[in-house]
Amino acid sequence: MNAAIDEPLAATSTLKWVNRFARLGPDFYTELQPTPLPSPYWVGRSRALARELGLEDSWLESADALEVLTGNRGAAGSRPLASVYSGHQFGVWAGQLGDGRAIMLGDLQTPAGTQEVQLKGAGLTPYSRMGDGRAVLRSSIREFLCSEAMHGLGIPTTRALCVTGSDAPVRREEIETAAVVTRTSPSFIRFGHFEHFSYSNQHAQLKTLADYVIDQFYPACRETSQPYAALLQAVSERTAHLMAAWQAVGFCHGVMNTDNMSILGLTIDYGPFQFLDAFEPGHICNHSDPQGRYAYNKQPNIAYWNLFCLGQALLPLIAEQDEALAALESYKTVFPQALEDRLRAKLGLTDEQPEDRELIESTFKLLASNKADYSIFWRRLCRFTPQSGHEPVRDLFFDRESFDVWALHYSERLAHVDQGLRADLMLKNNPKFVLRNHLGEEAIRAAKLKDFSGVNTLLTLLQAPFEEHPGHDSFADFPPDWAASIEISCSS
Ligand code: AMP
Ligand code: MG
Repeated sequence: MNAAIDEPLAATSTLKWVNRFARLGPDFYTELQPTPLPSPYWVGRSRALARELGLEDSWLESADALEVLTGNRGAAGSRPLASVYSGHQFGVWAGQLGDGRAIMLGDLQTPAGTQEVQLKGAGLTPYSRMGDGRAVLRSSIREFLCSEAMHGLGIPTTRALCVTGSDAPVRREEIETAAVVTRTSPSFIRFGHFEHFSYSNQHAQLKTLADYVIDQFYPACRETSQPYAALLQAVSERTAHLMAAWQAVGFCHGVMNTDNMSILGLTIDYGPFQFLDAFEPGHICNHSDPQGRYAYNKQPNIAYWNLFCLGQALLPLIAEQDEALAALESYKTVFPQALEDRLRAKLGLTDEQPEDRELIESTFKLLASNKADYSIFWRRLCRFTPQSGHEPVRDLFFDRESFDVWALHYSERLAHVDQGLRADLMLKNNPKFVLRNHLGEEAIRAAKLKDFSGVNTLLTLLQAPFEEHPGHDSFADFPPDWAASIEISCSS
């Protein structure tokens, strides 16, 4: 244990820790300290998030912050802990899991509300099972950048304040080096937390947890006659909106196990995620998922499957099974409507017409049969004009005849749409910059050589992905051929 742990500096003592989660009691977690890492260094920092959290810029530059956010020094008033949860992994009940490498420092009072602060990769916990409690630089950079990228895209997500690195070796397929991501969220509670207390017959704790989540995050549920069914419905609706956002932007999560599903409907636990390059509906981004359980086009149904697990876990609190089923039903109406709304905006349709669904379906059919680049298609489409030859979009399709039929259909629909409003709507809904695998990979390769400029550049672009960022067009270009050979698996 590091002797410095009990000697916080003045700067960190100004942080207001309220430790809300810790008040649930010891059935929910184990208190412990992070394990220090030697000679930490900064890899990346989100100053935007620091400002939202009310942290002083100068603190995030300080040696104190570097030590505290690597887990080498305690923060006065914090109460570090690892929480216990269970889950279904790849469709199979996996039993107890828990925070195996994430240590929660506590809940911080911030201008953006109370936020849990976790150090991911901060050492062994009682829930580490066969793992080493560490995260490698590569996966930490990916989680850091993608958290802030999703926020920039307006997609619900946990956030990431920074990544620190250390030359301490970590064994994966090869020897890599350690890193710690500081991540924040109003809560990191997962579906798996509920499954844990339900399946271990700890129903009093299950109720305590549900009451905590309702009181803190879903207070309107308390006003209903069946608060726990109302909670299930509210989570189903938030998850439906999240899935619509993922599908519309072409995001594949890769490991949608119930322990990776946020009770707040946030994107959580960035592992082998990928933004689509070519549009292939059955695309699998996780090298450890050969069956494609979590393929891009399976995500909406998997989310429903996971919500069903949550419903099952909540049954001891919901007397009538029918009420749980009715609560889950909302997913089936909210998801398609939310997706259609997003796709209408991506197409620049400022009003709703009955034929829109057909136009949307024909767009996806055309993209799939041509394996067109997903993000580039949508961004170029912002500048499509019904009158001109629209060559930049047309060039993305080898089947020009089918494209021309589709373009005529789209042009006819646009006849009733104000072109200025359309372009404006589209440029706000079709990002120029997404965190493609090869972009992350290039920044990671440089970071391994201690050049963090690539991480910083990507962070700047991804925090404002709808802006043009002149001089950075290469980051919005097609992936190079080698991108197809990048293999990313679970838990690195
Ligand atoms: P993931 O697939 O990354 O969400 O992880 C699934 C479970 O394995 C969670 O309980 C993690 O905390 C745990 N885990 C993953 N990697 C490690 C590691 N290197 N050391 C300890 N636990 C880990
Ligand atoms: Mg996880």
